[in-house]
Amino acid sequence: MGSYYATEVVEILKDAGCLVGENEITDGWWNRSRSSGGFDIYPLGVAWHHTASSTNPNNDLDYMINGSPDAPIGNLLLDRTGMFWPVAAGCANTQGKGGPVTFSRGVCPLDQGNTKLWAIEIANNGVGEAYSKEQIDAAFRGSNALNLHWGNRLDDVVTHSLGSGDGYTSRKIDPATSAAVQGSWQPNSSNSSGTWRLQDLKSECVRRGTVSPPLPGPTPGEDVMLYIAVPKYPGHNNNSEWWAVFSSGAVRRAVNSDVTFASLSNIPQVDQDSKDHDDFLRSIAIKP
Ligand SMILES: [Zn+2]
Repeated sequence: MGSYYATEVVEILKDAGCLVGENEITDGWWNRSRSSGGFDIYPLGVAWHHTASSTNPNNDLDYMINGSPDAPIGNLLLDRTGMFWPVAAGCANTQGKGGPVTFSRGVCPLDQGNTKLWAIEIANNGVGEAYSKEQIDAAFRGSNALNLHWGNRLDDVVTHSLGSGDGYTSRKIDPATSAAVQGSWQPNSSNSSGTWRLQDLKSECVRRGTVSPPLPGPTPGEDVMLYIAVPKYPGHNNNSEWWAVFSSGAVRRAVNSDVTFASLSNIPQVDQDSKDHDDFLRSIAIKP
């Protein structure tokens, strides 16, 4: 039984520019795992899934955390707007039998995906529902940030479906469909179910990690509006957040040094009473 619970993932994702929500359903995610407990090593890679659902984030979360007999299902939910929700910091049940799959730091042995891989469940019905550009962009941003954090390569990713023979298991089709992916990246399908071709996914992870500019920071003389977002649910290690909106239109989560810098200047606007934390974060969606 491993002892590693990835309690830092929310901070890792936010620092990479991802939006992350927590609420009363996700509560306790930092201690949550399948019966085997935490990971015994840093996850070898990120497994990409679709939820095969057609509902709202809370219903997805309730199933993944409470409703399913195999709960917890997956480590993160990525909702249709591109917001992540933490499900389990320890190992989760979602891979089932499959593998082995080779990653840069080692091999995920036969049927060990639940304890060796980190699972992102992307909200989608899997039979043709559009994946929004915001959702796809967040999936790549999050996958890359987590792989870098754990010392993996950006292409240490795997589809749940065996697909072209290089994924995880022939029992599954996810993520699908390739034709439903919105935005500039257009993956080919690896089977008649429209499973995203794993080599296309790997290539795009690397491309985005190589060519994507870093999130913009302040430049001398540029006006910046600072907002403080107070979560409607206090959550874990997440009492309030500062967001900086620059006159150039760039948005990013402010880190402590920025707040210190700003506190020495005039703060044009501070919203200390955001009625709905999640809506607030979505209203200042990440801009590259
Ligand atoms: Zn899956």
